[in-house]
Amino acid sequence: MNAPRTAPATIPTPDWDGVRTDFPLLTREIQGKSLIYLDSANTGQKPASVIEAVDDFYRRHNANVSRAVHTLGTEATDAYEGARSKLARFLNVRADELVLCSGTTFAINLVAYSWALPRLKSGDTLLVSRMEHHANIVPWQLVAERTGARIKVAELTADGSLDLPALYAAMTTDVKLLALAHVSNVLGTVNPVREICREARKRGIVTVVDGSQAAPHRALDVAAIGCDFYAITGHKMCGPTGTGALWARREHLQAMPPFIGGGEMIREVSFEGTVFNDAPHKFEAGTPNIAGFIGLGAAVDYLQSVGMANIEARENELLAHATEELLKIDGLRIFGRAPGKAAVISFLIEGAHAHDLATLLDLEGVAIRSGQHCAHPLLQFLGVAATCRASLAFYNTHDEIERFVVALKKARGLLA
Ligand code: PLP
Repeated sequence: MNAPRTAPATIPTPDWDGVRTDFPLLTREIQGKSLIYLDSANTGQKPASVIEAVDDFYRRHNANVSRAVHTLGTEATDAYEGARSKLARFLNVRADELVLCSGTTFAINLVAYSWALPRLKSGDTLLVSRMEHHANIVPWQLVAERTGARIKVAELTADGSLDLPALYAAMTTDVKLLALAHVSNVLGTVNPVREICREARKRGIVTVVDGSQAAPHRALDVAAIGCDFYAITGHKMCGPTGTGALWARREHLQAMPPFIGGGEMIREVSFEGTVFNDAPHKFEAGTPNIAGFIGLGAAVDYLQSVGMANIEARENELLAHATEELLKIDGLRIFGRAPGKAAVISFLIEGAHAHDLATLLDLEGVAIRSGQHCAHPLLQFLGVAATCRASLAFYNTHDEIERFVVALKKARGLLA
């Protein structure tokens, strides 16, 4: 169950045009134009192998997990647990420290309710960065409300980096937990989580890293990061929606009470009391999204066949191209210019509303996101009501970037 990871093999650079044909949806037309999908930070597209894995499960293997001794039940359980093992190897963690759940939102709530709520009290502080997604803010606010703990905000520098000296100064003795994105979904900032977690650990602060925007785009070694909790979501990493995971240090999983009660998470139930299953099953009550996790296992296989180092290099190339072209547009401002940032470009064009730009781009077949990206406190810091966000993935092409920029210039012309 817990095979240690062997050194990742170097995968030759793939034929990117070939990779693109793995994604059926990318051949779609929108408004009579070829789709240009630039919303992968929102959700990633799915390769055929993932869609087929889900389809194959329902056609040939469908049964519930861990309940039946019949052949289908065994096949379903093996495939589900196989997906957990694949994901564990992908993250370089132990499979029995990986709780499968519906995604990052659930994963962080699990930490909030099961780790933080019973431990925090008035006088304690939760440290949260300014660039967090609401999924890494609101659960802490709920904990703070119930416990009397307070929330302190780690602020950013002008380019959208975390202000590290300020962050370390904010790690005072009252701080019990630090909640931090590995990669920002708005700015693309890649936080030096390894260094930050080391500093937090020295001060006895428990760290929760939101890896939603990291796992799809770079090789991860969660064990080396040295955090206490790491959350990921499957739908952004080419997997099905409603899948994700929380990795936690064993000592936390053992000490934490169950969050949701029901079947699967117990060893024995009587009206006198219940004996819970071991972690991670103790946190997986009820029938899980079996087909989804089998699809996520296929997504992990797929990402590894392309190679995470290749994916990161490809996306860096696309990011550099898109940034250079966008900056040639008069009045265009990019939010988030941290060195080494990921391929997420939030921008505005002077005089044009973000939603108007996104609507006009849709008429050209270009899918970008506009709005506040579930990050209201960050947008308040940026001093804008909304931004446009083009988020790239390895399946995008240089040609798409050129066509996106042409479409954006046309949209801007219409709004001028
Ligand atoms: N955290 C970040 C940084 C995100 O970008 C997202 C999704 O956009 C989430 C959390 C929420 O994840 P989920 O969709 O799994 O609830």
